[in-house]
Amino acid sequence: MKNYNPKNEPTDSIQRKSIKPVICYPVETLLPAKMDIYFNARKNLKKVNEFIIPAKDAICFKVPKGHFFRIFCESGPQVGDLNLWNADNLKEKFYSGKTRALHGTHLSTGDRLWSSFPYLRPIATITHDTLDWYGFDDDGGSVHDVIGTRCDPYTEKMLSGNEYHFCCHSNLIRALAHFQNISFEEAEIFVHDVLNVFMCTGFTKDTHQYFMKASPVRPGDYIEFFSEIDIIAGLSSCPGGDCSEKHSSDEANCYPLRIEVYSCIEKELENWVSPEVSTYNGKHKL
Ligand SMILES: [Zn+2]
Repeated sequence: MKNYNPKNEPTDSIQRKSIKPVICYPVETLLPAKMDIYFNARKNLKKVNEFIIPAKDAICFKVPKGHFFRIFCESGPQVGDLNLWNADNLKEKFYSGKTRALHGTHLSTGDRLWSSFPYLRPIATITHDTLDWYGFDDDGGSVHDVIGTRCDPYTEKMLSGNEYHFCCHSNLIRALAHFQNISFEEAEIFVHDVLNVFMCTGFTKDTHQYFMKASPVRPGDYIEFFSEIDIIAGLSSCPGGDCSEKHSSDEANCYPLRIEVYSCIEKELENWVSPEVSTYNGKHKL
């Protein structure tokens, strides 16, 4: 947390602080999402798979490129922690920090989920969000953030001394280990910062600390993604439930989440191209 120290304030502080900000990454410079293709394609979806994620647990599932998937709130307000990997190369994974730098703190329809270096390409695009009415509330909060990380047993141990094994970090490790038939140790290095689906978060106005408040999600709400490459998705139904009070414990009311995967009519995607990885030459010198 930043402390204000008037002793070090220079005489031109007002002038220095009043400089206008500029957007680091103007959206015009991004690879544009051809939303009209997705909107047309999603008019004729055929469900090809469905999964239930039990409360306080996670599963991994495959979504072939050119397919859609939805995360549904099933029976009560519940947030989910989402990881994405290239199905053929787990080292290419969702990069929440760069996604935040490109699209802002909270995501919705039209935003893309970018992959890690040296790949850096959109691996999924959000094509529908029934919580898009929320916008930002008076506390500066909004839903579907890329500012948090994921609840994890290390931070919990550090802050409370408790050993808790059903944080999203651990749930995602178990799910990926099971899905890939690898050990927990091997799986852990691939688990990464998440998209906090349905979670309502922000930064406090006074201290700029990360806060959470009860998710506005209700049964039937969903967020929908288009899979730009073959992906493995991991989703944890967070032990924080709606994250109105606590996470990393068994105290919150928790509910399952539902996943549905859809194919669309192939012809609708004839003008869509799966994004290529970054074309940077990788030399890091002249
Ligand atoms: Zn969690």
